[in-house]
Amino acid sequence: MPGSPPSSELPAGVQRDYPLARLTTIRTGGAAELFARPGTIEELERLLAWAQRRGLEVGVIGSGSNLLIADAGVRGLVLKLDQELSRIAFDGTRLHCGGGARLPAVSAQAARQGLSGLEFGVNIPGTVGGAVRMNANAYGGELARTLRWADVVSAAGRARRAPEELGFGYRRSSLRPGEVVAGVSFALTPLAPDAVRATLADMRRRRREAQPSGIKTFGSTFKNPDDPRAHGRSAGQLLDAAGARGLRLGAAGFSDEHANFVVNHGAATTAEVIAVMAEGRRRVRERLGVELEPEVQSLGPVAFPADWGRG
Ligand SMILES: Cc1cc2nc3c(=O)[nH]c(=O)nc-3n(C[C@H](O)[C@H](O)[C@H](O)COP(=O)(O)OP(=O)(O)OC[C@H]3O[C@@H](n4cnc5c(N)ncnc54)[C@H](O)[C@@H]3O)c2cc1C
Repeated sequence: MPGSPPSSELPAGVQRDYPLARLTTIRTGGAAELFARPGTIEELERLLAWAQRRGLEVGVIGSGSNLLIADAGVRGLVLKLDQELSRIAFDGTRLHCGGGARLPAVSAQAARQGLSGLEFGVNIPGTVGGAVRMNANAYGGELARTLRWADVVSAAGRARRAPEELGFGYRRSSLRPGEVVAGVSFALTPLAPDAVRATLADMRRRRREAQPSGIKTFGSTFKNPDDPRAHGRSAGQLLDAAGARGLRLGAAGFSDEHANFVVNHGAATTAEVIAVMAEGRRRVRERLGVELEPEVQSLGPVAFPADWGRG
């Protein structure tokens, strides 16, 4: 493992020992060895090339709404897209935005312009880059239906990828570590702004009724299983049936209201979150015979047990 570069060799804007917990919605985990907020595609390219020369691993953080940071912190360089790389612009019925643009803002701005196709994003508290990486979805809306291209930047250079080149599956894509979604373009459909806004209001209302709010969580913990032994039940229904609803270990626990949400009730650690997940998963396996697979992603050495088969 390469040593940490001396401070005199850090590119402008790169900070050392940067706490990451506050950049996640669950608020756990340690610091990034090195951290930067590139504001342009050129700055992003320079940072990625520098990290490669130094032999540093690169991680990217969006809104941290589906992310567990290792308690021991993250070696290498962690990037969060900023400025131009989080802007939203319109060109007729096309919406172009940086990978760091927040999905609810993108969805609301499209509605204001009378453009339909991104309504599903209103309740997904992530960035567009994180949504492409995760193939985020809600209420039957599909990212790939309106996505025209994504600009992916890595140490190897810049490439524009069509949706069919992104390997989308259930909550996954073929993007590899070190590949950063810097910008995307969506092709939307004109519709009366009031109609789009009404859909957003309806989706917000449905979400308020279905999910707890004002809690520290990363949303769904496990993917809904594609296993006949689940008999069509969601991960939340299986956790509930296995007695995991409200289960608490230390300061972390499954929500009382939504069995598939892990909540940080105070100053939980990532290790406590993993312990809660492991216990929920064990109960579902032993009582119902179904192996749950985590949806949540991680940065740094997060100790997911080896048999979890994360995809
Ligand atoms: C209350 C709540 C409700 C939620 N509801 C939904 C829902 O309805 N549907 C749904 O699909 N998800 C939902 N989520 C999960 C989450 O919001 C999505 O997975 C979202 O797409 C993650 O985006 P992010 O920017 O927060 O990514 P992060 O959590 O920051 O990162 C997730 C992964 O994406 C990578 N990544 C982030 N940005 C980039 C980039 N620019 N380029 C390449 N890789 C990147 C990270 O390295 C990491 O591997 C919910 C979460 C919460 C907390």
